[in-house]
Amino acid sequence: MPRLLLHTCCGPCATACIERLRDGYALTLFFSNSNIAPRAEYDRRLAAARKLADLQGLPLVEDAYDHAAWRAAVQGLEDEPERGRRCEACFAFNLGRAARYAREHAFDGFTTTLTVSPHKAAPVIFSIGSRLGPFLATDFKKQDGFKRSLELTRRLGLYRQDYCGCEFSARPPT
Ligand code: SF4
Repeated sequence: MPRLLLHTCCGPCATACIERLRDGYALTLFFSNSNIAPRAEYDRRLAAARKLADLQGLPLVEDAYDHAAWRAAVQGLEDEPERGRRCEACFAFNLGRAARYAREHAFDGFTTTLTVSPHKAAPVIFSIGSRLGPFLATDFKKQDGFKRSLELTRRLGLYRQDYCGCEFSARPPT
């Protein structure tokens, strides 16, 4: 089977993507999410990804956390709304790291769990991914992918966050 690196934005989103891909690809999960803040939240999401990888019997590669480098990549875009240009720079940062890892480790291709979210526009992600390397353009939200991810997350007892990830997306305390 072709070897596919699955950029994993979080465990919950990965659930439905793994289910859809695993019959056709030898999957490796790639947790590379330097956008997430604060660090404690990053650790919670990483723990959920580790739990999922264990439950699914899949390898998980943990990229370095470098929030300062991510901040530099989105500099000047801090006030952009969610789904705006800051998010495009964020996708390019994380997918760029996935593409490089896939290239350096002789994967046949890479893709991302990001498209399972109804808040993420697949065409934008496809355009960025395909510029970076052999990107498998799949919109995982189709065929009720997001709903399925919620079901699987509940069933597996995974931690599920309530904001996208960066400090600019975090909801103010209520
Ligand atoms: S809102 Fe989400 S996608 Fe957009 S920059 Fe922040 S973490 Fe990245």
